[in-house]
Amino acid sequence: MAIPVSEPLDHADPYDRASAVSDMYLAIALSEARGPVQAPSATGECLFCGEPLAPGLRWCPVLPDENPEHGCMQSWAREQERKRKAGL
Ligand SMILES: [Zn+2]
Repeated sequence: MAIPVSEPLDHADPYDRASAVSDMYLAIALSEARGPVQAPSATGECLFCGEPLAPGLRWCPVLPDENPEHGCMQSWAREQERKRKAGL
């Protein structure tokens, strides 16, 4: 898989950027069920906020003009990672 090379951003904090990228790969790993956390199957509701969803969806879809960092999948992935680090 091609790794996106960071485009020149004058005021970007490289640490924030690295964190966003690692979160992105965490979410990809989870969505492919190859990460440290096995994502449960679709229940008809968002796994993060409980919003009713179309069959087969596990998280609320992120609209193209929304920041995926704020989406339910990312939030859920971060929560799982926190639980994993806490030993839950
Ligand atoms: Zn949601």
